Amino acid sequence: MTYPIVRIRADFPILARQVNNRLLTYLDSATSAQKPNAVINCEIDYYRHGYAAVHRGIHTLSNEVTTRMENVRKQVARFINAASADEIVFVKGSTEGINLVANSWGQHNMGPGDNIVITEMEHHANLVPWQVLTEGKQLSLRYIPVLPDGTLDISRLPTLIDERTRLCAVTQISNVLGTSNPLPEIIAQVRAASEAVVLVDGAQGIMHQKVDVQALDCDFYVFSGHKIYGPSGIGILYAKKALLDAMPPWEVGGSMIRTVSLTEGITFNDAPWRFEAGSPNTAGMVGLGAAIAYVEQVGLDNIQCYEHDLMHYMIEALQQVPNLTLYGPDNRTGVIAFNLGQHHAYDVGSFLDQYGIAIRTGHHCAMPLMAYFQVASMCRASIAMYTDQYDIDRLLAGLLRVQRLLG
Ligand code: PMP
Repeated sequence: MTYPIVRIRADFPILARQVNNRLLTYLDSATSAQKPNAVINCEIDYYRHGYAAVHRGIHTLSNEVTTRMENVRKQVARFINAASADEIVFVKGSTEGINLVANSWGQHNMGPGDNIVITEMEHHANLVPWQVLTEGKQLSLRYIPVLPDGTLDISRLPTLIDERTRLCAVTQISNVLGTSNPLPEIIAQVRAASEAVVLVDGAQGIMHQKVDVQALDCDFYVFSGHKIYGPSGIGILYAKKALLDAMPPWEVGGSMIRTVSLTEGITFNDAPWRFEAGSPNTAGMVGLGAAIAYVEQVGLDNIQCYEHDLMHYMIEALQQVPNLTLYGPDNRTGVIAFNLGQHHAYDVGSFLDQYGIAIRTGHHCAMPLMAYFQVASMCRASIAMYTDQYDIDRLLAGLLRVQRLLG
C-alpha cells in the first residue's frame, strides 16, 4: 500500500501554518505531536454538545460522559492488548503514571537491601521518581550502562539483577538516541533472575510501534496522550490486575472512595477508579480515544514502515552536513540527535526557527546521558506520521545555511 502522506498532512491543519514567513517544518513531535482534525473536532464537539462531570450525577449528560470515559478505557485496553479494561488507569501523562507506581507499589513493596534496576538512558521522568524513592530507604539504584553506539549493554544484566531486585524500569525507545530497547530479552532475564516487576516507559514508543502488553509480559506500561496525537494532560498507566488490586491509593479525595465516615474511617473504591482521585480530564479522555481511532485507521504497521524509510532518508541527509556529529545507533526510531561542530544547540535551534523549522534543543530531560556523551546539550529532530521528505530537505538546507553563517 502507498502511504497516504498527502491526505494525512491535510488532516493536520497546523502544518499549513507559516512561521517566520516560511511554511512550518515541525520536527519536534517527540516533545509533543500535532493534532489531526479528528481530535480537534472531537474536542470542540465534546465541549459544545457533550460536556459534563462524570460519576457524580444521574442526569443524562453525566451518564453519557461516564459511558464515553469507560469506552475509551476499553479502547485503550484493546489498543495495547491488555487483558481487561480494569487494568487501565487514566493519569495526566507518563510522568504521573511512573510517580503513581513509585509512590504506591514502590513505597509498599521495597525495604532495606532491595534494589531497583533502570538504565543510563532514562528520561528524568523514569529516573527521578526512583532516585527519590531510594532516598532514606536503604534501597540501591543500579544502572544498565549505555554503550558508545547508544545501545544498552545488556550483557551486564546478570551482574545487575539478583534476588533483591524488586523493580526494573526501562524505556521502550530513548527520547534522545532513538534506541529501541530489546524489551523481550530484558524482561526474560529479569524473570529468570528475580521476582522483580517490570515497568516500561512507552512515552516514545506508543506512537511508533505496536504494543502488546500481554505478549511483552511487562507489569506496568505508561504513555502520554499528547505524543500520540491526542490532547495534553491525559495519559495511561497499564498495570496487571493482580498488582493493581493489591496497590494502595496514592492520591486521595473524591471519586476514589466507597464510604467515608467521621468516626468509622474510609473504604476505597476498586481499581482502577481507586487511582483516579478528583474530577477527571474527560476532554482529554475523549480526545485520546479519537487520536487512537485515527492512528488505528491509518494503521500502526503502515506508520512504522513509512517512518522507518523516512528515518533512513533523514540520516542520509544529515550525513551530508560537514562537522555534524550524530548520536545514537544506526537503527533509530522516531528521533535523531546531533550537534553541529562546537556550536551550542540553542544557537542552531534559534537559526533554524528563523527558517520556520522547529527542532528540540537542550538536555532533553536526560542530563546523565548528556554527561555520558560529554556535551551540555544536543539538537534533536523527530518525525511523526505526518512528516514528509520535504521537511527533511528543509532541515538539511537549513543546517547547511546555519553552518555557513556560524562557520
Ligand atoms: N519518558 C520519555 C521517554 C519521554 O520522552 C517523556 C516526554 N518527553 C516522558 C517520559 C514524560 O512524558 P510526559 O511529560 O508526557 O509526562
